[in-house]
Amino acid sequence: MSIKGWIHSIESFGTVDGPGIRYVLFVQGCPLRCLYCHNPDTWSVYEDKNNNKDSTCAMRSGKVTDSETVINDILSYKRYIKTGGVTISGGEPLMQIEFVLDIVKRCKENGIHTAIDTSGCIPVSRSKAVIDEADLILLDIKSLDNKQSIKLTGSSNVNTLATLDYCEKTGKKVWIRHVLLPGWTMDIDRLKSLAEYLKPYKCIEMVELLPFHKMGEYKWKELGIAYTLSETAEPGRNDVDMAKQIFINEGIAVNLPSSYDLNSDI
Ligand code: SF4
Repeated sequence: MSIKGWIHSIESFGTVDGPGIRYVLFVQGCPLRCLYCHNPDTWSVYEDKNNNKDSTCAMRSGKVTDSETVINDILSYKRYIKTGGVTISGGEPLMQIEFVLDIVKRCKENGIHTAIDTSGCIPVSRSKAVIDEADLILLDIKSLDNKQSIKLTGSSNVNTLATLDYCEKTGKKVWIRHVLLPGWTMDIDRLKSLAEYLKPYKCIEMVELLPFHKMGEYKWKELGIAYTLSETAEPGRNDVDMAKQIFINEGIAVNLPSSYDLNSDI
């Protein structure tokens, strides 16, 4: 049986969302409202006449498809993604558990590696079905400080940290993702706390530090949503390298976008 789902877009040769060359499926819908989001066009949730938001029943925009159509498209790229696999990103993939689970299972049947790029905001009781099946979880920890997490994303970090604990318990491989936002998370003490917090987790293979950028600002304007970070500077190379060193000092492997990585040839 094919499962209906809402998607935003597809990238058939992605190189930044997991290992190797990947087919990246961006699904529609996200319950968070990160101030720095560069994909606010994936947020859309259904609002009924009484203005009750229900992010699980319908999506106002995005494209409706089904898991069979998606897997057939993935299989048409199979030889190009054999060194990588499939990443399901968003939006928030774990909002559409049945749809995503069916795609992940079908990838597995076809020997294709799968990664889920998630904020971990969905309770583990619901998300674990997908986590159990996927090969890799790209877990975006927005802030270790719950008060800051709520201000930054509109959501608590409790489910995110519980997701990490579940991955540790089940031995699921995790790459942590963390956005370096000046004035918020680009802060030595906060980064040291995060590195110390992550150090004991054996499931974590690496931390990917993502320097804040404003490439999605135009989308906020197009959608008529106030963007509050126009005056926030992107972090400098020295700040990013300092952040990297904090994690390395705790024995944690770090990945950076190639343009920031001082050890990169690019
Ligand atoms: S979790 Fe991702 S898609 Fe959702 S608001 Fe935050 S940055 Fe945007």
